[in-house]
Amino acid sequence: LTDRVQAALPPGSTIGILGGGQLGRMLALAAAKLGLKCHIYSDTPDSAAAEVAAASTIGAFDDLSKLGAFAASVDVVTYEFENVPVSAAQHLQTLKPVHPSPQALAVAQDRLAEKRFMQQHGISVAPYAPVDASASLSSAVEQIGLPAILKTRRLGYDGKGQTRLLSRNDIVSAHDRIGRQDAVLERMVPFSREVSIIAVRGAGPDGRLTEDFYDCPENTHRNGILHRSTVPAPLPRTDITAAREIARIIMTSLDYVGVLAVEFFHFDAPHGGPSLLVNEIAPRVHNSGHWTMDACGVDQFENHIRAVAGWPLGSTDRHSDAEMTNLIGVEIDQWRELLTQDPHILLHIYGKGEARPGRKMGHLNRLQPRSA
Ligand code: AMP
Repeated sequence: LTDRVQAALPPGSTIGILGGGQLGRMLALAAAKLGLKCHIYSDTPDSAAAEVAAASTIGAFDDLSKLGAFAASVDVVTYEFENVPVSAAQHLQTLKPVHPSPQALAVAQDRLAEKRFMQQHGISVAPYAPVDASASLSSAVEQIGLPAILKTRRLGYDGKGQTRLLSRNDIVSAHDRIGRQDAVLERMVPFSREVSIIAVRGAGPDGRLTEDFYDCPENTHRNGILHRSTVPAPLPRTDITAAREIARIIMTSLDYVGVLAVEFFHFDAPHGGPSLLVNEIAPRVHNSGHWTMDACGVDQFENHIRAVAGWPLGSTDRHSDAEMTNLIGVEIDQWRELLTQDPHILLHIYGKGEARPGRKMGHLNRLQPRSA
């Protein structure tokens, strides 16, 4: 593990970003503010990020010659979604620095590896059991109990690739619903709320790697998609400290540089376990950190860019309370009413063409004077 950061890239340098969604777009905008350029590598045309970036490549993540040309044109590589194949990140790492580490990608994109990683590092998760060709769903149900939630190991996001089991009668249909893929069965835990932490690891004032943390938002979902993040979450100080410590352990053991999001289930009342269980991590900037764009001097996107460029991290201090609301699908069509109703609304639109159901089209932040 390293504790020194790479030499800071001078303004005018180019950051390569794998993935072309709204997170890449907001990273590119933050980079532009610092005089850094971005080159977006995406496997789909017309990406939200390419529109605001200096350069873009459309290519598959297994196209080694395109990845090679991309690497040659950038000074450092990062990513904005966690389903970039680890092999692509590892290949790029032979050519240019890649942050966060491909190991972080490997842990985050496989729910079973992620849970095992947490346990190895003394971090609590909901009770779970692997389900694959050799371990049957009915014996996992035996072990974990009901109600439970069956999640595919890979490629699940926004509630996709998962299904709930309330009784043993659901076993066959649940397994069919996720296409009999390798999965984990998780006990449904009676949490009080969902919270997250946005953490960053990068250059501290003495040039060594250090960690910093934004305040924890409380997150609510609709149809499996994040609906709202409200900050600060009503967490006791001890739990805020615990959330930070968990993020710190994850980042240091993954040799991490950049922004990391950790999603938690939080319990107010004793439930026979710790008051925070890790649900999942995202090795990237995160939707539950979008409030930082307007409630903090240096937001998650700028701090991620600073970290991967080897620049000193900016303050994560929050000057306001904030509520972030996602605009999903046709909700984006309300932009004019929203702005008319309240001139204080801070609106962010991702410039995506078609407002398909479930598609993240934009978000809005509302600020209040800081309460605590
Ligand atoms: P995930 O894709 O793992 O974030 O799960 C999507 C949503 O399902 C979470 O945000 C929770 O609201 C709910 N959920 C997931 N796992 C559990 C669990 N073990 N117990 C209760 N609710 C869960």
